[in-house]
Amino acid sequence: MWSSVVAVLGTLAGAALARTAKRRGDLTQTLYEAVRESVTFLFNDSIATLDDRPDSIEVTFRSGHRRTFDIVIGADGIHSPTRRLVFGPEEPFHHHLGACFAGFTLPNHLGLSREGMLWNSPGRRAALYAAGSGGQVFGLLSFRRPDLPFDVFHDQEAQRALVAAAFPDECWEIPGMVARMRAADDLFFDAISQIRMPNWSRGRVALVGDAAYAPSFLTGQGTSLALVGAYVLAGELATHTDHAEAFDAYEKVLRPFVTLNQDLANEGDTALFPATEESLRKRNAALRALSALPAEPPHATYSALTLPDYE
Ligand SMILES: Cc1cc2nc3c(=O)[nH]c(=O)nc-3n(C[C@H](O)[C@H](O)[C@H](O)COP(=O)(O)OP(=O)(O)OC[C@H]3O[C@@H](n4cnc5c(N)ncnc54)[C@H](O)[C@@H]3O)c2cc1C
Repeated sequence: MWSSVVAVLGTLAGAALARTAKRRGDLTQTLYEAVRESVTFLFNDSIATLDDRPDSIEVTFRSGHRRTFDIVIGADGIHSPTRRLVFGPEEPFHHHLGACFAGFTLPNHLGLSREGMLWNSPGRRAALYAAGSGGQVFGLLSFRRPDLPFDVFHDQEAQRALVAAAFPDECWEIPGMVARMRAADDLFFDAISQIRMPNWSRGRVALVGDAAYAPSFLTGQGTSLALVGAYVLAGELATHTDHAEAFDAYEKVLRPFVTLNQDLANEGDTALFPATEESLRKRNAALRALSALPAEPPHATYSALTLPDYE
């Protein structure tokens, strides 16, 4: 087997993370604090049925409550239940990128601080990632899997076995990571996939973020697309009196940007997840050649959209 490579990104990733890294929950908390006075939040409930009518939409919640709204925005992630209710099953929109991953936390026994470490062999990647300098790090085990393992999606023990079988290596941090993954109580397993839809709205329902156009973490752009999408959708709703026109305008403004960003994940052969010996060698050579982070974002795609000013 081709020898595996450990790429230590301490300096580069550390510099980037020290400036920008926040845990996902921190961002959620910041957004929540920003709107909690003006938005009504209903926790521990979800939409059970939608009844789209000519002049309103009636929502029945799982709790049994019923309410009538002008519109419904589904921002409920890659496996969006709102999308399923309105557009049908996920399969036609699910674009599998040929890999799966498992994420979990584990003790920071290497003392990582605002840095990440990557181990790669072609088609497989292990990562340890410290957003701060606390006692826990985030572990990620990703591996090529051309077909979707439908049989394990609802069986966590089968997920653990599948991931462990993909990482039999007795090297680097792999045995320890696999042992931790097997015992983790916060294991998160999924396919590395995108959502690609011909339309993001139907009737009085529109989708935003991963629910409509998940780009996968191979692009590093999911959060940006979700936030930019929410901004554009809100802006178009504020500047149109008719929701259908606003939904059309949202799609018109955003779709080219989404497509460019989704195309960054070119079937698993990206810098984050090289699938062949050659692409891995190229990726490592490119990393070694970097002596500092580029001053500007490395990819023009990231800033390909000039945000409209809706004021
Ligand atoms: C391992 C990993 C690493 C990533 N790394 C990056 C990165 O470095 N940079 C980046 O930009 N993106 C990254 N992403 C992608 C990023 O997390 C997503 O693109 C982003 O979170 C999408 O935001 P969202 O609000 O659309 O969906 P989500 O963040 O998935 O939020 C959806 C919300 O809907 C809730 N929900 C689901 N179902 C229901 C229901 N029935 N009723 C009520 N609520 C419901 C969920 O609980 C969740 O809170 C990564 C993703 C993964 C998995």
